[in-house]
Amino acid sequence: MAIKCDICNQMVSDYGDHVRSEHPLTHAEVRDLLERYEQGTLDLPTEQRVVCHLTSCDSCSGELADLRDREHVADHLPVMAE
Ligand SMILES: [Zn+2]
Ligand SMILES: [Zn+2]
Repeated sequence: MAIKCDICNQMVSDYGDHVRSEHPLTHAEVRDLLERYEQGTLDLPTEQRVVCHLTSCDSCSGELADLRDREHVADHLPVMAE
């Protein structure tokens, strides 16, 4: 039987784990893609896989939040001084 992830359409096991037949995105790959994800320039399957990874990965979703923060404050002087 085939269960597919609602978000990225990849096969998932009975336990909800993604079947690793298609190469899953690693954290490093997701981080590389975050900037383009923010710009909306990823192709849809890749974007879906990024979104899916983010929903289950606090570390990478935190990275995305940081990225958005940095863009948001880009016009302002940095608060932290070394
Ligand atoms: Zn998924
Ligand atoms: Zn991650």
